Amino acid sequence: MAQLPHKLGHLVSDIRETTQALLQFRDERDWAQFHNPKDLALALNIETSELLETYLWKSADAANKDEVREELADVFAYAFLLANSYGFDVKEIVLEKIKKNALKYPVEKAKGNPNKYTLL
Ligand SMILES: [Mg+2]
Repeated sequence: MAQLPHKLGHLVSDIRETTQALLQFRDERDWAQFHNPKDLALALNIETSELLETYLWKSADAANKDEVREELADVFAYAFLLANSYGFDVKEIVLEKIKKNALKYPVEKAKGNPNKYTLL
């Protein structure tokens, strides 16, 4: 498992506690039967679209922060549930991806440059 910077360690337990709360909410309603990976991925995509909708036709500053907060919570909820359905450790998969991206986007080439790695 990748090493997490010490100051971020509390996030691991926060993610696990959050996932446990989501699973409890789900199980109290007997919704596990609906939470297959495909439908969780669809729900995640729908919630990201709802997040985008909070910015539609306005500047980022004009978006309603409360709406952004709610839709972002939905995005995290379905992302955590999807990760859980595969037994993925959120910390582990994100840190692995950061390592991969660090190879694709070396600081000396990517610093201050928003281009995709193929254009660096
Ligand atoms: Mg929503």
